[in-house]
Amino acid sequence: MGDGSKAKVSYFGLDNKNDDPRSQHASDSTYCPKCQTKLNYNSVYFSHLGEWNCPNCGYEHPKKTFTSFLFYPLLGTYNQYNTNATVLLAKNLGLSDEEIKNALKNFKPAFGRQEVLTIDNKRVQIFLSKIRPGSMNP
Ligand SMILES: [Zn+2]
Repeated sequence: MGDGSKAKVSYFGLDNKNDDPRSQHASDSTYCPKCQTKLNYNSVYFSHLGEWNCPNCGYEHPKKTFTSFLFYPLLGTYNQYNTNATVLLAKNLGLSDEEIKNALKNFKPAFGRQEVLTIDNKRVQIFLSKIRPGSMNP
């Protein structure tokens, strides 16, 4: 989306080194947005997100300006992506790292989205799960 824009563009992502270079079955798009050639992935962090390049036209993943923060309020790679997007926006708006960290520490997840409950003196954490129609045997 930032290609060709005259606006200030910042990119976020992850910089994990221990990821699987194979694309996951749930990938949304693994083809070059410029020439539609299948992309080469050096690493995959989540779905189609990772480090990639096009063997045909040379287009590659944009250089990330932000890849990690001091604190992540929720588990999961996708939530690290979400947090990094939010933190990058907050930084661009002028918030300090301390202000951002304090805001994230006070974050409460929505119902069923890693919500933590105490039931019969036991800590229970609820994770939303989705199944694609037809993906399970009856
Ligand atoms: Zn291409």
